[in-house]
Amino acid sequence: MASDGRPQRDAREANLRVLRDCLAAGPMAQVELAAVSKLSEATVSNLVRILVEQGHVHVEPGIRNGRRTRILSLRDRPAPWYLGIEIARTRVRVAAVGHGADPAVHAAEIPVPCAYSQALDTVVELVRGLDEGRGLSPARLAGAVVAVPGLVRATSEGAAPDLLGEGYHQAMGWGSVPLTRDLAEALGTEVTVENDCNLAALAEMHAGAGRGHRDFMYVLGHAYVGGGLVLNGRIYRGGGGVAGEFGHTVVDSGGKSCWCGGRGCLETVVGEAALVEAAGEGRVGRPRDLAQVVSGALAGDARCRAAITDAGTAIGSVIGAVATPLDLRLAVIGGPLTGAGRLLLDAVRARLTAYVGQLHPSTTAVAIAELGDEAPVRGAALAAARQAAAPG
Ligand SMILES: [Zn+2]
Repeated sequence: MASDGRPQRDAREANLRVLRDCLAAGPMAQVELAAVSKLSEATVSNLVRILVEQGHVHVEPGIRNGRRTRILSLRDRPAPWYLGIEIARTRVRVAAVGHGADPAVHAAEIPVPCAYSQALDTVVELVRGLDEGRGLSPARLAGAVVAVPGLVRATSEGAAPDLLGEGYHQAMGWGSVPLTRDLAEALGTEVTVENDCNLAALAEMHAGAGRGHRDFMYVLGHAYVGGGLVLNGRIYRGGGGVAGEFGHTVVDSGGKSCWCGGRGCLETVVGEAALVEAAGEGRVGRPRDLAQVVSGALAGDARCRAAITDAGTAIGSVIGAVATPLDLRLAVIGGPLTGAGRLLLDAVRARLTAYVGQLHPSTTAVAIAELGDEAPVRGAALAAARQAAAPG
């Protein structure tokens, strides 16, 4: 047992340095500082008091997750901020974090198809709007992440991630374009690319259905079916960068061929085209899109209800197959399919219960995502801030 208390003082000094390094990435609430620094909230509370007394840290009121809280920032450097960008088929969105408030999303419609240069110009215009409205100086923009509905390749350590294939660019009608390089030039900051579902999962962990969970899976039901896997508070990428693509988990080995080359993937059962077909087969006035299948189900249409229930059963199988061996306590489902509410959830839970049986010591809760279609851009802004705090 040390009598002079030096080891304790050394540990305290080391922890004070850790907190200052964390805050160098941008202002944050005390609870976020505890999460980022991996120190207990009680320890952080004590150390923050010391940093404030020493004059290193400034405290001001702010809002996180819609609640009033105290935002901490370093006094001796201007606060940087981080940008999330999403360029989707009909809309561009941007969101900023790192300035002591919840990310506010700014969006603009774009034509379909949209010229590449027009998409870039729209991003720049929206960022200028953020600056004018909220005092976010371009000089302090310290990084950006762009969300894309495409696979993103894991590259060697320290190298920037990159889009896998040209599917996204082709869907946008652009051909081969250096998206991240051009955005970086236009914005004057480093820009990296990330899969939109991974980012949506990150946003749900921060401020949505995944709050309080460090391990969960996220499944998105849409035109396509994507997903993300959060382990230990971080997006799990796997060996090739495409972990969490639950849409290509086989649920029916004798089922339909999938564009991915497989057969009977989850997407061939719960993707928009599959649900529209299942709900409308052989009848007049068939639903034309997923929204109509969902509204038909809610209005009591038997075929639409059956399509949603079957989708829930298939999703429940995949959740069971993933969450059971990983002992995940939460699965979050996002996308327009969740408009069916309990009808979908009941089917998912029924299948999950049957799948897991009595052997498993814990149950996996199933929740509907809370952040809607703003989740990817919110997650992109958070990811940009996280990259700065913990590169790689
Ligand atoms: Zn597939």
